[in-house]
Amino acid sequence: MADAFDLLVIGAGSGGLAAAKRAARHGATVAIIEGDRVGGTCVIRGCVPKKLLVYGAEYRELLAEAGSFGWSVPGHHCDASRLLANVRHEVDRLNALHIGLLEKAGVTLINGWGRFEDAHTVVVGERRLQARHILIAVGGRPQRLPIPGGELGWVSDDLFLQDQLPASVLIVGAGYIACEFAGILAGLGVAVTQVYRGERLLRGFDGELVAVVHEGLEGQGVTLRPGLTPEAISVGPEGFTLLAGGERLTAEALLQATGRVPRLEGLGLEAAGVNHDGRRIPVDAHQTTNVAHIHAVGDVTDRVNLTPVAVDEGRALADALFAGGTRTVNHDLVASAVFTQPELATVGLSEEQAVERHGAEAIQVFRARFRSLRQALPASGPRCLLKLVVERASGKVLGVHMVSSHAAEIIQMAAIAVGMGATKADFDRTMALHPSIAEEFVTMV
Ligand code: NDP
Repeated sequence: MADAFDLLVIGAGSGGLAAAKRAARHGATVAIIEGDRVGGTCVIRGCVPKKLLVYGAEYRELLAEAGSFGWSVPGHHCDASRLLANVRHEVDRLNALHIGLLEKAGVTLINGWGRFEDAHTVVVGERRLQARHILIAVGGRPQRLPIPGGELGWVSDDLFLQDQLPASVLIVGAGYIACEFAGILAGLGVAVTQVYRGERLLRGFDGELVAVVHEGLEGQGVTLRPGLTPEAISVGPEGFTLLAGGERLTAEALLQATGRVPRLEGLGLEAAGVNHDGRRIPVDAHQTTNVAHIHAVGDVTDRVNLTPVAVDEGRALADALFAGGTRTVNHDLVASAVFTQPELATVGLSEEQAVERHGAEAIQVFRARFRSLRQALPASGPRCLLKLVVERASGKVLGVHMVSSHAAEIIQMAAIAVGMGATKADFDRTMALHPSIAEEFVTMV
């Protein structure tokens, strides 16, 4: 006999947890299935532990600059194993917290991997579960290179499991994860070589801002090797060897940061009749698959693969199913950040995207490039770049972008203005807050 619920959620990551708790709050009976740790990528092996490592890495620069502010900090060094242990401890705390929140909400947690037996039944080990609605929120996993030796080396998940850091690392890739880990590992004293097949980092981001990130990584001592396509990986007594673009590069460790793919394997989607193309489960604007009572949110749908988006999708779905909600999730104008040092944050169209969409004549670009007051005494360190992309005819701000310290914090607030349709004149009318970095956004001419 099967257990029956109003909502059965497969996957206790950001999207699944949000949907489960919201549905329970609306009075639904809810169960959530998780084969790994409750919290998902963001909490266990993504955003949260990554950002803690970024904070740790930033001390390198702070300590180096301390002298110019009168501080002497003799003989400092980073005990990376202590940092890694402290981060794991915090992840354990958050994992327990999320389990507690599920209990408090009255959601039944089922440990194991869920597999559809048919469109109405999910099997977890010996247990058979049925529900009026089933939500697939299984997220994604790192993608390894399809080359000889592609099974070797770390993916981002593995980094959080280490007790200590290597002396040197090869990082393959030029995306979010590769750039963030290059900054983290360099900050923690690892000799980093970042290898990528394209000519530039962070494809799809504003080119001028990417150039500042490039400078920042080089300033941290990262060796950047563009234009090298990975061909093979091997491991031996000298460490890892990457054959790329005909060159042989070696290091003690190797990290593949070459994209993520939805975790579709083992779900039994065919048994449930759920359509997918091997890379994603398509859903409509209400997070519903081709099967009316089966839904999907988050990275498994491969739309905007960011935690807050999955959370919003999960909540909108729960509201629609159990409280008559009609809200659709706005996938436009989603702010995002790359936590390099300095960090890059952005909302709206990049200059390249705006020109492509509206034509070069229709666009005006305003920029401010400077060294912040924070860097005046050290008289070194990365410069800031702030950029507004504006539609000439209407004055509407189409994109706000920056590379600087605290960029993510600032762009979060700018996203409100852009979402409300603010114009350049609205920005100009706003009094500057001095001295700050963000004031440059309201004084650009
Ligand atoms: P990205 O898609 O950002 O980057 C993948 C990188 O791998 C690119 O440089 C790509 O090169 C390269 N690549 C892919 N396949 C190959 C191949 N066969 N050979 C050589 N290079 C290859 O993926 P990430 O893994 O960095 O991040 C995954 C997702 O996780 C992001 O898209 C984002 O949604 C999320 N994320 C968000 C973060 C944040 O918000 N701060 C932080 C981390 C992750 P090319 O450009 O040439 O295709």
